[in-house]
Amino acid sequence: MRDVIIIGSGPAGYTAAIYAARSMLRPLVIEGLQPGGQLTTTTEVENFPGFPEGVQGPDLMNKMRDQAGKFGAEFVLGTVDRVNFKTRPLVVYVDGKPEQAKSVIIATGASAKYLGLESEQRLIGRGVSACATCDGFFFKGREIAVVGGGDSAMEEAIFLTRYASGVTLIHRRDQFRASRIMIDRARKNGKISFLLDTVVEEVLSGAEDQVSGLKIKNVKTGEIGELKIEGLFLAIGHTPNTAAFRGEVELDGEGYIALSKNTMTSIAGVFAAGDVVDKRYRQAITAAGMGCMAALDAEKYLLENP
Ligand code: NAP
Repeated sequence: MRDVIIIGSGPAGYTAAIYAARSMLRPLVIEGLQPGGQLTTTTEVENFPGFPEGVQGPDLMNKMRDQAGKFGAEFVLGTVDRVNFKTRPLVVYVDGKPEQAKSVIIATGASAKYLGLESEQRLIGRGVSACATCDGFFFKGREIAVVGGGDSAMEEAIFLTRYASGVTLIHRRDQFRASRIMIDRARKNGKISFLLDTVVEEVLSGAEDQVSGLKIKNVKTGEIGELKIEGLFLAIGHTPNTAAFRGEVELDGEGYIALSKNTMTSIAGVFAAGDVVDKRYRQAITAAGMGCMAALDAEKYLLENP
């Protein structure tokens, strides 16, 4: 039986692992299918303290993993499909195989949202993507669109201009949620044009069932139009990865893990940190900070409940 199992391998999970391992708790980190989490699908990270020149997302995550490993954290590649927090020890099933622990830290993060259109779902991988850094390369010299009005949309649109001949940023309002600096960068980029007050009604496909355009609607005038593009990138936020915990820990109305006190969930000995809890800040550094907090809370819990 483990003292602590950490579920998730983003900044929250790896930071929790560094702290727990340094406290001699021999944490087992269940890394999921995408070790390193969302930062492995990004390029340059400019706002993580300690890296004045910036750092590549995957490099930052590898460093965090190495740091946890150095102190004795163990890692397993696998997905937690269910848990049983009603028994002691706590049980976490990794690809069906049970692992027991006295405490658990949930740091499973969040996944990209889609619009939910039938045509969009059918064309995922055929021109529709929610990860510019993963798929941008395939759109060299092509016209593409990005949907969203937050920092992710700006960042992805700017990144995609490396490949695309032009990027149309489609946003459903005329006000952006993104920060000033990101909006300014996007506006200054000659390859980016903006379509505001506009929603995508349908993703159109051509002969080979690849994206060929979008049916769009101006929400103010009701006018319907068509935009010729070959790639559609969604940057409209995220859904927390909590399906495996439903019915086991309390979730809030949007499916995020609800904390009772500090990083404690509704179950004694179960803690949570990072984007799976936090819909407000969602930064690598805030997730890392919460991962540290969860490890300290777990350590205190284990001292009081040996
Ligand atoms: P976000 O800030 O929640 O923005 C999501 C955007 O998508 C909003 O503009 C929203 O429109 C739009 N949207 C949501 N659902 C939609 C739908 N069904 N159809 C059309 N549009 C939809 O998400 P995010 O951009 O992923 O950013 C998340 C967090 O990470 C933020 O705190 C952000 O600052 C941070 N972040 C920072 C950086 C950076 O600093 N470089 C980069 C990426 C992300 P409305 O505005 O109308 O709601």
